[in-house]
Amino acid sequence: MKFAKLRLSGFKSFVEPTELLIREGLTGVVGPNGCGKSNLLEALRWVMGESSARSLRVAAGGSGMDDVIFAGTAKRPSRDLAEVRLMLDNRARRAPAEFNADEEIEVSRAIMRGEGSTYSLNGREVRLKDVQLLFADAATGAHSPALVSQGRVAAIINAKPQERRQLLEEAAGISGLNVRRREAELRLKAADANLVRLDDVMQASE
Ligand code: ATP
Repeated sequence: MKFAKLRLSGFKSFVEPTELLIREGLTGVVGPNGCGKSNLLEALRWVMGESSARSLRVAAGGSGMDDVIFAGTAKRPSRDLAEVRLMLDNRARRAPAEFNADEEIEVSRAIMRGEGSTYSLNGREVRLKDVQLLFADAATGAHSPALVSQGRVAAIINAKPQERRQLLEEAAGISGLNVRRREAELRLKAADANLVRLDDVMQASE
């Protein structure tokens, strides 16, 4: 599963629809300070489900995520909608089996001011968790160690063993399995509680 194309519209400084082709080999983005190079990496994290205000450089708290929407300039009014689409090349069929019929997978995230984010996979609305699992199974995601932002190298060197373990688990592609294990454990607990209740009801009716 390869990243093939990133499309942005209304995201941070990218007010006009913008397309970044990610070709085989190395893709370089060059430009003067403040032109939006880091915003591109943030768009990539964001479409993969990033919710951390700090790593997106937006205000913490409720409506902080609205800060990813183009805020306007002296010459241009602000926008109320931001959208990022990521095209994944699935010709090698590396995506989970449910996508076996798809040569290309389109992941998109949109945000309306004051209304929060919506996600879709190939045009079908999905939950944040579905997007996160797709990337976790492919050993990538918004927290992938392959996305190295400014200051990240020092942070990894100073990380606690538990945090380093998380990095290794993400790199090995098992963090998706951990999420599923936690879900299965919760379901087992709920089933246990139901069995206890059933016992009580049966004893009461004897
Ligand atoms: P450097 O080389 O200095 O690291 P850069 O090319 O990585 O810079 P970014 O940090 O990606 O640049 O972009 C910063 C620019 O994005 C700033 O000009 C800032 O005003 C603009 N920007 C950030 N959020 C928004 C927003 N919501 N609306 C409009 N512009 C925004």
